[in-house]
Amino acid sequence: MSLKLFRSTEFAPSSLFSPAGQRAATHPGWVLLFASIWIATVCNMALWRELLRLPDLANARGLVFAVAFAVMVAATVFALLSLLAWRWTLKPAISVFLLAAAFGAYFMAAYGVVIDTTMMVNVMQTDLRETRDLFNVRLLGRLLLLAVLPMLWLWRTPIRRTTWPRRLLQNALFFIAGCAVLAGTALLFFQDFSSVMRNHTQVRYLINPLNSFYALADLASKPFQRDSSVLMPIAQDVRLGPARVASAQPPLLVLVLGETGRSGNFALNGYGRPTTPQLAREDVESFRNAWSCGTSTAASVPCMFSHLPRQVFEGRKAEYENLLDVLQRAGLAVLWIDNQSGCKGVCERVPHVSTSQLKLPGLCQNGECFDAVMLDQINERIAALPAERRAKGVVLVLHQMGSHGPAYYKRTPAAFKRFMPECTSNALQDCSREQLVNAYDNTILYTDDFLASVIRWLKTQEGVTSPAMIYVADHGESLGENNLYLHGLPYAIAPDVQKHVPWITWFSPGMAKRSGVSTDCLKRQLDAPISHDNYFHSVLGLLNVQTSVYRPSLDMFRPCATP
Ligand SMILES: [Zn+2]
Repeated sequence: MSLKLFRSTEFAPSSLFSPAGQRAATHPGWVLLFASIWIATVCNMALWRELLRLPDLANARGLVFAVAFAVMVAATVFALLSLLAWRWTLKPAISVFLLAAAFGAYFMAAYGVVIDTTMMVNVMQTDLRETRDLFNVRLLGRLLLLAVLPMLWLWRTPIRRTTWPRRLLQNALFFIAGCAVLAGTALLFFQDFSSVMRNHTQVRYLINPLNSFYALADLASKPFQRDSSVLMPIAQDVRLGPARVASAQPPLLVLVLGETGRSGNFALNGYGRPTTPQLAREDVESFRNAWSCGTSTAASVPCMFSHLPRQVFEGRKAEYENLLDVLQRAGLAVLWIDNQSGCKGVCERVPHVSTSQLKLPGLCQNGECFDAVMLDQINERIAALPAERRAKGVVLVLHQMGSHGPAYYKRTPAAFKRFMPECTSNALQDCSREQLVNAYDNTILYTDDFLASVIRWLKTQEGVTSPAMIYVADHGESLGENNLYLHGLPYAIAPDVQKHVPWITWFSPGMAKRSGVSTDCLKRQLDAPISHDNYFHSVLGLLNVQTSVYRPSLDMFRPCATP
């Protein structure tokens, strides 16, 4: 028995836009093939550009390999789609592939990002405001060209129907054929393939839309690898040690959690532009050699507040309580104020408020607020915390909007637009690099003002508390260096600018006395290498919170504390 898989379309010649009823039905195999080739070629420009840029492929053999790579991508997509090629699922499945490919292609091309699990977490934790920042004409254009046009053709094309046993047989054969082509090509080019994959890990995150699907699958399987139903308690032996001087007032520690801070763009750290004029007049310490735990908010924030160092945290098998849980258990009053898209689970068990939806005139517009909003009614917010806890001390976390991109210009009030002209588009490639850096530097100028305002407010609390501030950003940012934008690249391949973060401390004399930490000594440590690994242990040490979880070797203040 011979089985004709591809029978040519009978009767009337089909044209792209002729009404569906008048056209002959097309065999699903052709539709699969066409969609696979379209996705492997047109939707994968970022991959082809990257491959052709690799020095190992800059010859004729490299070109042949690139073609073979395209065949492999097409074969994989073909095999995957053939599993979904049923009467009611064929068109929706291809549409999902096309849409995922179009979105992926846009973000990879526009921001130089790759799509991995961390990036997918970022996408899924993005709130509506952030999504609005990302939408623009270029994205719509890309969607139209890569997804909507082929979908228009797809949905107007009648697909030949057949009985389900026959369809089952066809799909199985298509799947086997796809796998065979994939395996055959891979074997033929095994050497080139394995060396490219080994030496240029970023390439695998560029294969569109398989990168998105892989990341989603990886994400979906994560909860099974890590038991997140149980929260492992830590520091159950915690207790608040006494202040070093008997007369000391209770601590008031403000942890400013910065957003998208580039250490190198702070004048305090040697940047050539006056981005931090107000902090320069305060008695602060700016640590110039500080490094983040992740390259995105979702990765960094939970890691910062964890007692585990970065490498252990990444491979953890369970979820643990964090710094705020420990401080609260020690009896301190803890409050998280969020002017961003949430605390990524870190503040779940402590009092928290969001200020980003307030409608304060002058501070808020279009559903978001400038960071100064977090200082509005701050005394009232603290007064509402339990009195017996406040008597022991207060720890406030202020989660900034900071320098969140790509719409940097939205983060600064008019008075802080000092570096001009600034980029006022969220399609960063529409702007010159100078405009982009201007818009970013203005956000640092505003953060400078915000931090100085925090310090000014803390000074008003000096009589009754021992205030201090620790400002650390969650991760850095790429501003077009090597054609990279934003952040979120896998840690191992991310450039330093995405990991090198500002870290600024301010101690009142009361806090210095109370904790025994010498700020003169700290000022001699500004180039010491520190990272988010130090955060948890340094805060515990500063507040003299005693527990077996505390690691003195990770306490950045300890070398400057009187024993
Ligand atoms: Zn962030």
